[in-house]
Amino acid sequence: MPGKIRTIQKDISETELGWCQCHEHLFIADGPSRKINSALFMGDEQKSLAEVLLYKKAGGCSLIDAQPYGCGRMAENLVSVSQQANIHIIACTGFHKTEYFSDDEWVFKQTDDTLAAIYLHEIIEGMYSSEHIRLTAKAGVVKCAAIKGEYQANKTYETLFHAAAQAARQTGVPLLVHMDKEADALRVIAFFESYGIRPETIMVCHLDRTKYDYRYHEEVASTGAYLEYDTIHRLKYHSDEKELALISHMVGSGYAGRLLFGLDTSNRRLKSYGANMGLDYILTEFKPLLVERLGANTVNRIMIENPAKFLCF
Ligand SMILES: [Zn+2]
Repeated sequence: MPGKIRTIQKDISETELGWCQCHEHLFIADGPSRKINSALFMGDEQKSLAEVLLYKKAGGCSLIDAQPYGCGRMAENLVSVSQQANIHIIACTGFHKTEYFSDDEWVFKQTDDTLAAIYLHEIIEGMYSSEHIRLTAKAGVVKCAAIKGEYQANKTYETLFHAAAQAARQTGVPLLVHMDKEADALRVIAFFESYGIRPETIMVCHLDRTKYDYRYHEEVASTGAYLEYDTIHRLKYHSDEKELALISHMVGSGYAGRLLFGLDTSNRRLKSYGANMGLDYILTEFKPLLVERLGANTVNRIMIENPAKFLCF
């Protein structure tokens, strides 16, 4: 049977995906995230829709929304935006860092089986809305968050990681892993491999800002996992020139097939919420620089072919 990509409206084939940014946030409900960082609040459907329309106008076809269950995901609004803008959105189940949960007490009480059952339900039957109503829209990715110590950081992370691994193994759905500054991608990949999960179904995110180290990136890419870069125009970390240097190095080392890009948006990176850059930044500003360095074929490979291969199960 040919594989499929699970978008929130329907399953699609690999060839239908098109230009896909692999780690974005269209919505984050008011809650713990906003208290931690005021940039992490996007609760206005009209604004998020306007942003997606800008992205579409620039050539965007699809995106992965990286906000998981229980962390202000606003799944019902993702569905509405996907329908109104006619764009493919791949949603996440799984978990983020525990401080982002709106009911962290609840999370601490779960077992890996009860959490895995929720993740499986969201992939197979449909996601839960903000009001905990069951939707028919399904999740197509399992998100995890790795802090220092990864799956052994503490008892809660251990439970969360095992639950995510169970759901990914049973369904074949790919994994998206947030990497904190001191988290080790190699240990995360090895953990999932111990479950029989192939590295080719794992995306490790943000290493371009958390571990800007060519050798380390080569080592991670050589496992077969995908590296998702989103420190594009995130100037407090580094310049676009430095981002391009890393990308060029990885492509030159033969890893063009292991790269994925996104913007990891917050309200400070979305025009509709008042920022001076938007979800269309890669298409309108960064793509010409990429094409100049890498050529159009490689850029299309990273933005279209790699996401399709990663998402297909
Ligand atoms: Zn993110």
